[in-house]
Amino acid sequence: MSLSFDPDSLDLPMGHFIGGKLVAAEGVIPMHRPSDGKAYAACPVADAALVDQAVATAKTALKESNWGGIRPRERLKALHRWADIIEQEAVTLARLEAVSSTRPVGQLVDGDIAVSAEQIRFFAEFADKEGSDLVPTDNGSLGMVMTEPYGVVGAITPWNFPVNMAVWKLGPALAAGNAVVLKPSEMTPFSTLYLAELADRAGIPAGLINIVLGDGMTTGNAITGHPDIAKVSFTGSTRAGSAIMENIARTGIKPMTLELGGKSPQIVFADADIDRAAAAVALSITSNAGQACVAGSRLIVEKSAAPALIDAIVRRMQTVVPGPTWDATSQYSPIISEKQRQRIDDIIAASIAGGAECLTGGGVMDAPGYFYRPTLVAAVDQASPAIAEEIFGPVLTLQTFEDEEEAMALADHPSYGLAAGLFTSDLSRAIRLTRRLQAGTIWVNRYGRSRDHILPTGGYKQSGIGKDLGREAFHANRKSKSVLISL
Ligand code: NAD
Repeated sequence: MSLSFDPDSLDLPMGHFIGGKLVAAEGVIPMHRPSDGKAYAACPVADAALVDQAVATAKTALKESNWGGIRPRERLKALHRWADIIEQEAVTLARLEAVSSTRPVGQLVDGDIAVSAEQIRFFAEFADKEGSDLVPTDNGSLGMVMTEPYGVVGAITPWNFPVNMAVWKLGPALAAGNAVVLKPSEMTPFSTLYLAELADRAGIPAGLINIVLGDGMTTGNAITGHPDIAKVSFTGSTRAGSAIMENIARTGIKPMTLELGGKSPQIVFADADIDRAAAAVALSITSNAGQACVAGSRLIVEKSAAPALIDAIVRRMQTVVPGPTWDATSQYSPIISEKQRQRIDDIIAASIAGGAECLTGGGVMDAPGYFYRPTLVAAVDQASPAIAEEIFGPVLTLQTFEDEEEAMALADHPSYGLAAGLFTSDLSRAIRLTRRLQAGTIWVNRYGRSRDHILPTGGYKQSGIGKDLGREAFHANRKSKSVLISL
């Protein structure tokens, strides 16, 4: 069966998913398809009263199902069933994801969707293996660190990998015994709604997963400020992360995980395998048209290797072919919105006006939808907007260095520290510089996530607080109390 589909004939789920049911709601925010710009739907906005209803439903469901108190293996089994159904329904899920987002359908079934199912199973495994600890005390006492779920967790996700980002929140929260009220991006709600419906089919008790649609100001604020939401897990921009911190500080302090923006360097030394480095660098900035938090958007190359590396990267950048996300053969993604494409173009123009040189790209593509040409911008100083700002598009900046010290100085971004890539054949140098790089993830002689879900992900500096994935994500969804019993 071909994965390609007609976007006009897709049956889109619409409304809020509360208590195991889709609750119809009037569309408010106009939605445009990134692949052709067509206005095709409108996203409802849950107000504070509706968020309150979702939270109350989650609380009741926790109580009635005893989800946090049942044998942990029962949680594990339910989550495994959910992962199985996600795999069985991968094509429908992929199409619902592709229609509104920038993810080409051909990359979803074996990519994002398969990885998401795998990650649900990964988190499920913690349910009956990680728990409270006995700790060393004197013989007259028994000391332990007892852990328990928070209760209702609030989650907010971005538009760039909708299903996967939802799974990063839902997987560990449910495995750890919580219920969730999740708000997907107002631009890409459909696949998350379907994900919740599949959880219901898998027998995850109704009301443990509630999806409320809406924008950040109304629905997002109502979630982060709700008194019965005990913890908040957010993935999105640093700007929104900062607004969320402010709202939480104003409305009642609670723990939060913030996975925010990045401006990650890829540092290439002359002793690296240049072809391999070129392939990794080009892929990381053209994949999803650079709309990934960990996109390696700053190329920092040793001067002597620059000509060969640039040549190989430019060749790759110039061969991408735009295509709608609903065509199974499409590889290169559109930008999420007209507004965001214009912002990318404005940043390039401002950088060029400030002395940068555009080596390739730098303009919209001659295709329907919001496509932007893969762009390489050289000779930019650290203050150039192309370097300072997270562009979130297919734009790579180029800087050269003479020695390690200069490479490290260029790599160190004043505000972001999400990831970094290092290409060298010198093992000592790789370890030495890995220790110095200020980022939450370092890739050496490769770039981008693998399927090693045990590696946590999260940022240094303003790229975030806390971790998704890994053991850390599970533990972040449980609180602990210290107990000392006098014998
Ligand atoms: P965004 O911050 O505009 O929106 C993200 C989500 O937050 C959306 O659901 C939005 O409605 C909501 N939101 C916005 N303002 C809010 C507020 N004040 N209170 C509550 N919710 C609010 O980000 P985006 O454009 O959807 O996604 C792109 C950004 O996400 C980039 O900065 C990217 O780096 C980041 N991101 C980070 C990671 C990571 O793991 N660190 C992963 C993916 C994306």
